[in-house]
Amino acid sequence: MDFQGIIEEIYATVKQSENKGTVASYIPELSKVNPEKFGICLLDINQKSYFAGDAEESFSIQSISKVLTLVQALSIVGEDLWKRVGVEPSGDPFNFLSLLELEKGIPRNPLINAGALVVCDILVSHLKNPKEDFLHFVRALANDKTIDYDKKVALSEKRTGFRNAAAANLLKSFGNIHNDVDAVLDFYFHQCSLAMSCKQLTKTFFLFANHGQCTQLHKFLQPSQAKRINAIMLSCGFYDEAGEFSFKVGLPGKSGVGGGIVAIHPDKYCIATWSPGLNHKGNSSLGMQVLEQFTTKTGLSIF
Ligand code: GLN
Repeated sequence: MDFQGIIEEIYATVKQSENKGTVASYIPELSKVNPEKFGICLLDINQKSYFAGDAEESFSIQSISKVLTLVQALSIVGEDLWKRVGVEPSGDPFNFLSLLELEKGIPRNPLINAGALVVCDILVSHLKNPKEDFLHFVRALANDKTIDYDKKVALSEKRTGFRNAAAANLLKSFGNIHNDVDAVLDFYFHQCSLAMSCKQLTKTFFLFANHGQCTQLHKFLQPSQAKRINAIMLSCGFYDEAGEFSFKVGLPGKSGVGGGIVAIHPDKYCIATWSPGLNHKGNSSLGMQVLEQFTTKTGLSIF
């Protein structure tokens, strides 16, 4: 299949779209990003890479990082993790609080903010230097030592992350945060500030296309764990737009408010897009269009 030709064609078509969305501004530092940025990268199962546009420029991966903390936490505590977080889609926005109250502090899934905060708490409990150790883990996963936090973004969210502070305190009141709330939030804001390009994202998420083995063929997850995380990405990766993403694109994936999306076809490829404008559900508007066109043109969705 001519992946390069298809990606270039989709890039050119989607770039013309009127429907570019709006750049997130509730984290002030994110609002400074040029809304015209747009990149696509695909890494196939043979590790051949194809890209178009700003595919090698770093951006804030935000909630995409929730999948990576989940991988590390699972590798440390195994299936015990599921005693503290569920695996059901929430059908609500990523920062919704009411459900947490109703369900007594057990977040619906690890990809909404409340669930990711519990995963952070697990890592804060088990890692000696959580921020350094997690960064080291991500660099190993991606086989790329240049990946780093964007401290400005982390600080900007720390100053304005009132809803996350509310969620963490509510979780703490139910006994589902064991560490100091500020330490957990500081770690969470840092994981969200991870900066990567589309190209780096495809390398980092390659293990989900490859039954748990990274590009260097090191085993980070058991095949059954990789399968399960793909299932969670499919049902929960896009919050209250997860059904729509499944319906239109048909791949497991994860979005972030920095405008990135990564999606996986097990045994076939991993694809990442970046365009900072978000739709009203907080997912990249052009990114959604790219992926819908890609699986439609190639017929390569999991369904
Ligand atoms: N750091 C962001 C937040 O907690 C992540 C949200 C997202 O990317 N959907 O609000």
